[in-house]
Amino acid sequence: MKMLEKYHNGNATISIYEDGTRIIETEGEYEKPDLEFPVSMDFKITNWCNMNCRMCHEKSNPEGKHGDIMNLQFVNSLTKGTEMAIGGGKVTSHPDLKPFLQKLKKQGVIPSITVHQNEFIDNVNLINELIEENLIYGLGISYLKPFDLMWKEVAKNDNAVVHLIAGIHGKDVFDYLSQFGCKILILGYKNWGRGADLLQNEKVAKDIQDKIDWLKRDLPKYLDKFKCVSFDNLAIKQLDVKNMLTNEEWQEFYQGDDGTMTMYIDGVNEQFAMTSTSPERYDLKSDIKDMFKVIKEGVINNETQN
Ligand code: SF4
Repeated sequence: MKMLEKYHNGNATISIYEDGTRIIETEGEYEKPDLEFPVSMDFKITNWCNMNCRMCHEKSNPEGKHGDIMNLQFVNSLTKGTEMAIGGGKVTSHPDLKPFLQKLKKQGVIPSITVHQNEFIDNVNLINELIEENLIYGLGISYLKPFDLMWKEVAKNDNAVVHLIAGIHGKDVFDYLSQFGCKILILGYKNWGRGADLLQNEKVAKDIQDKIDWLKRDLPKYLDKFKCVSFDNLAIKQLDVKNMLTNEEWQEFYQGDDGTMTMYIDGVNEQFAMTSTSPERYDLKSDIKDMFKVIKEGVINNETQN
């Protein structure tokens, strides 16, 4: 597998491969990585969206604004090899998406985008163009419905990952997708934004919890039915993934607690936070290292209080 980038960050060396694999090795006598800047960040570029998903934790809607992404200073401070997961809102609606990706490419930043399934269908030419011009390295597609031809093609692309949400996508969806052997990323259910509003309805909340419980129980059956199964940290907690793995597997698989490797940047409200559901938000600074320092200090303070 071809290596895309290898760089130093704090006391670690990070290697990133073409298929999205990331290996973090600490240098010298250090056991745990202590990084100067995040290896990856979630970056919200817009709050505009017309999909109206009932669990949208960003509460994106047709009144949502686009971020002034070409003029955010912190982007200039990003080091070659940093990964950026660009999301929204509907990312393809941002008029500066392509120029922004061209700017990142010049800097050696490694971007991926996440789109809704219908957004993918409506913008397939643009998305193909971004892939062919090496402007994106990863493509996340949020699952909505069966579409054999499309999912078969998606499964052939090693850099495309289908996003599924614990509590929203149930057995029918996991069974359907497993026939294509795609790569999947399971996201935890976010009790935030419209995701929190949805839980106010007792019947819906029960259905969501039932689906989470089902997945927690049946997940081991699906692990070898897909080309790759990955999780965000919220899903790891909600589904108790650690319990399914041996100690060795866990050490190899786990990429670190929130705020120790990654962070979230809201390019619309020009704020940063540990994750997209963290209540503590800070105004953007011009240097990524200064922002990451704030996030890491927050993690350390939380650990000492607990
Ligand atoms: S979840 Fe994604 S596609 Fe759905 S409304 Fe929110 S931003 Fe739009």
